[in-house]
Amino acid sequence: MRLALKIDVDTLVGFREGVPALLEVLAAKGVPASFFVAMGPDHSGRAIRRLFTHQGFWQKMRRTGAPRLYGWKTMLYGTLLPGPAIAASAPDLLRRIPAAGHELGLHGFDHVHWQDRLSTLSVALIQKEIRRAQQIHEEIMGYPAISFAAPGWQCTAAALDALVAARFYYVSNTRGRHPYFPALANRVWPLLEIPTTLPTLDEMLGLEGRRAADFTQEVVRVLQPGQTQVLTIHAEVEGRAFLKDFSALLDQATAQGVTWIRLIDYASELWDRWQDVPKQAMAAGTLPGRAGTVTCQVLMETPP
Ligand SMILES: [Zn+2]
Repeated sequence: MRLALKIDVDTLVGFREGVPALLEVLAAKGVPASFFVAMGPDHSGRAIRRLFTHQGFWQKMRRTGAPRLYGWKTMLYGTLLPGPAIAASAPDLLRRIPAAGHELGLHGFDHVHWQDRLSTLSVALIQKEIRRAQQIHEEIMGYPAISFAAPGWQCTAAALDALVAARFYYVSNTRGRHPYFPALANRVWPLLEIPTTLPTLDEMLGLEGRRAADFTQEVVRVLQPGQTQVLTIHAEVEGRAFLKDFSALLDQATAQGVTWIRLIDYASELWDRWQDVPKQAMAAGTLPGRAGTVTCQVLMETPP
């Protein structure tokens, strides 16, 4: 049984505080991971707009204690406070990620912009977002990133076009059960998609009274021999208030016999047998504990 850790870094506080803490825990346990960093400005405060547009936001704020998780300052970036640059605020910290043997990929340029506005963006505008993220990566690392994870699991046909044009080796944009090539209305994109297969801690917290320890139990319980699961964690959540729980998850999964794999290495295996990777549709769907919709793999069999 294998587990890939996808670590999304959405905010400045997640980058500056969460990433160093996670690097330390991962090094202590000898666990490799795949980090995806939102390269541009932190506009988290604008996510407060979702408060007015998505049902269940307040409920979730209360349940997860979002102000405690993210800090009030983060919740004002891009509204009352200007949005600070994330990656460029600490180039040495960004370089420490691959130097420690982890994968570093792009989590977009402006996370909130992608998450809230993707459905209205043309291919050209999405290409601009990707280019701006890639530019920052190249300036700091000296080479382009080869992997991309869509902010907020939001993906559209236009985004697929833009990501194919940007020649990523693979992407991790959606929620689903196993890797696939996205296909919609008689089109197949030559873009290997490795979806997040497990629920996230922030979705599960408080659902039916669940605590972080219950989440860990559930994750460890679903791991099956012969399967590769993808768990997304958030640097601002598991790297801060829930660091001890994350560390316990690593220990329990390792004790259970898990092999840790980076997404990039999983992608390389999949490309070796790409003919076996199915072509499947994606569609907006809802998930327990998450406000709004995310893009999901459509698992229904195609009718004959
Ligand atoms: Zn994110």
